[in-house]
Amino acid sequence: MNDINEKAKYCLNCIAKPCKSACPLGNNIPDFIKCIKEGNLREAYKISSKTTVLQSICGRICPHMQQCMGACVRGKIDMPVSIGDLEAYIGDIAHKNNYLMEDLEKNCKNKKVAIVGSGPAGLTCAAFLARRGAIVTIYEKNEKLGGILQYGIPEFRLDKKILNETIDNIISLGIKVNVGKEIGIDYSLNDLKKEYEFIFLGIGANIPWKMEIEGENLEGVFGANSLLEKQNHPNYKEKTVAVIGGGNVAMDAARTIKRLGAKKVIIIYRRNEKQMPADKKEIEGAKKDGIEFLFQNNITKIIGDKKVQKIECIKTKLIKKEGETREIPVDIENSNYELDVDYVISAIGSTVQKEIVNKLGVKQNKNGYIEISENYETSVENVFAGGDLIGTKKTVAWAAYSGRMAAEAIAKKCNN
Ligand code: SF4
Repeated sequence: MNDINEKAKYCLNCIAKPCKSACPLGNNIPDFIKCIKEGNLREAYKISSKTTVLQSICGRICPHMQQCMGACVRGKIDMPVSIGDLEAYIGDIAHKNNYLMEDLEKNCKNKKVAIVGSGPAGLTCAAFLARRGAIVTIYEKNEKLGGILQYGIPEFRLDKKILNETIDNIISLGIKVNVGKEIGIDYSLNDLKKEYEFIFLGIGANIPWKMEIEGENLEGVFGANSLLEKQNHPNYKEKTVAVIGGGNVAMDAARTIKRLGAKKVIIIYRRNEKQMPADKKEIEGAKKDGIEFLFQNNITKIIGDKKVQKIECIKTKLIKKEGETREIPVDIENSNYELDVDYVISAIGSTVQKEIVNKLGVKQNKNGYIEISENYETSVENVFAGGDLIGTKKTVAWAAYSGRMAAEAIAKKCNN
C-alpha cells in the first residue's frame, strides 16, 4: 500500500489531464489517482469503471508509454506517474473486496443482446449493456472466455488468475454464457437475429498474414497468432527459431518459444529498433530473456527439403521517401545471406477468418474487415461490431473502447 501511496502522491493532478486524453478509453486518471491518495479506493474504482471494466488487465498490459504515461507531465522532465500500476491496483482491490460496478441509466431494460466473441471488445460491450439493464448472452467458440486475453497473451505477461477474476466480475453482472460453439459453423447470424434484438460481433482477427515468400508452405513454418492461441508448439529443444516481425505478438511468440526450451530465438525485423511497433517494455523483456535481434534485415526465402533448414535474408537500409511520414526500408543489393534455422514463425500481422466473416453477410471493406458506421453498426441493422474485426488499432484498450462505444450506440437505439 505504501508503495502505491507513493506512486499516487507523485501525480500532480494536472487540470489539463493530458494522460486522460492519451488513454484510448478516456479513463479519468487524475481523479481516480486523487481518490487513491485520499484512501478512498471504492470511489477510485467507481470513477475508473465509468469508462472501463478491464482495470486489472489494461493496468498490466497496455503499452503505457505509447498511451497515458507517454503524455504524463511528470514524464517530460523525470519519470512519468506509474499509471498502469495504479490502475491495476484499483482493479485488483475491487475484485478482492467485491466492489460492485455502478449501474448505469437502465435504458436497455430487458432488451436481449447477443455478444459474439469474448475478447476485450466483447467483454466490455457485454458489461456496459448489462449495467444498463440488458439481458446479455456471450457466445464464445472456446471453452474459456477472454479471447486474445485468454488464448493470445502469454501467462508471463498476464496472470490468468487476474484475468479470470476480471471475467468473473463482469459475468457477475448477470451475463449469461454460451461456450464451445462457433458462429458460421454451429449457428448463424440469422439464428441469433431470431432471438435477440441486438447483436455485437467481436470475433477478432487472428489469421496470420502470409509472408508471400518462397518456402512458406514448408513444414516448420507457423503463424505466431495461431501458435500462441492453440499452444500447438513443436519441440524446440536444441532448435534455432526465427521470428519475423516487430510487434508485441512477435515478442510474445519469441519469449514463449525461448521459455519452451529453444536454443536460440532470433527476431528478424526489416526496420530499426526505434521503429518497432512493440511496446518498449516488451522489447526490453525479450532482450532480458536472451532473444537475439536482427534489425534492418528481411527474410526473402525459406529453404528446405519438405522441412525448414535455412532462411535467406537480405539487409535493408532506411530511406526518406516523399509522401511517407517515416523512413522506409529498402533492400541492399547483393547483401543476401543464409541462416540455419529449424523453425520460422510469422508475426507480421493478422487478419479476419475470411470463411466465417463471409458467412455473416455483413459488408466488408477492401481489407476484409467488417465495415461499420460511426455508431459501430454494420450494414445489417441492429448488428454492431468492434475490436480487431473492424480493423481497430491493435491494442486491448482500443478494442475495449470500440466495445464500449458499440454498447452506447445500442443504448441510444434502445431509447428510441
Ligand atoms: Fe498525474 Fe501525469 Fe496525469 Fe498529470 S499527466 S494528472 S501528473 S498522471
